[in-house]
Formats: sequence, structure tokens, C-alpha cells
Amino acid sequence: MEKIIVSACLLGDECRYDGLSKPNPKVISLSSKYEFVKVCPECLGGLGTPRIPAEGKGDKVINSNGEDVTEFFVEGAKRALEIARKNGCRKAILKARSPSCGKGLVYDGTFTRKLTDGNVVFADMAIKNNILVFTEDEIESL
Ligand code: SF4
Repeated sequence: MEKIIVSACLLGDECRYDGLSKPNPKVISLSSKYEFVKVCPECLGGLGTPRIPAEGKGDKVINSNGEDVTEFFVEGAKRALEIARKNGCRKAILKARSPSCGKGLVYDGTFTRKLTDGNVVFADMAIKNNILVFTEDEIESL
């Protein structure tokens, strides 16, 4: 069975910044078609749960206290990409609008819930490494 990277929170892991999860039944139902390789890049980067929310701003990731947490996000993305490589994953389902996993539309760094075009750290790294990235809102095409 083909292996696919999936954001751990979409599978029910309580790894979000607020200590909650975002289980997505449509994603979970794909277990009949794919073997899931779940990753949480922010946890892999050494951030605890719960943690202070963060948003991308330019090429940095800044938390709501104004602290630069870019290095944790980059480290976590590298580790998640390594897991994808080791498992031969060519596709990923990543949580929309997350500061690590978001693809296409992301929060703009002002913590005002405003969205802007872009890909954030892990989604961007995965795409640049030829992994086909889908959000949970795009899985009909899988
Ligand atoms: Fe979910 Fe990705 Fe955020 Fe982890 S980093 S909680 S997997 S969206």
C-alpha cells in the first residue's frame, strides 16, 4: 500500500498549539487506500504542546509574544521531510492554514485571522522536494 505523510492532528493526535486535535473523518477514511505516516513538524522541531501560537511573517515564524521561533519550525520541517524520504512518501495531506503545514492560504503574521497567499515551512519544503501536497480540503483529488 502506498505510504502518505499526514499531519498528525488530522488523525486525532492532540498536538496542536492549544493541546487539541483536528481529526478529519474524510482524511481518516483514506486508510483503506494509503498507509499513513503521521508527522507533527512543530513537535519534531522541539516545541512542546500546548505552545504559544505562531504565524509566518516573511521568511520568519514569530509567536504571539513576538519571539522568533523560526529555528524550531525549520528543524521540524527537516525532520518531517526526512521521515517522508525514509518511507518513500510522494504525497502528503497537510493541515490547512497551520504555520507549519499550511499550503496555499496562510495567516498573515498579524494574529488577526487574516489570510494571505503562501506556503509555510513544512509545506514549502515538501513541495520543493517534489512531494505532492494536499490540504484536508483538497483530498477529493487523491
Ligand atoms: Fe498539526 Fe502540523 Fe500543527 Fe502539528 S504542526 S499540530 S501536524 S498542523
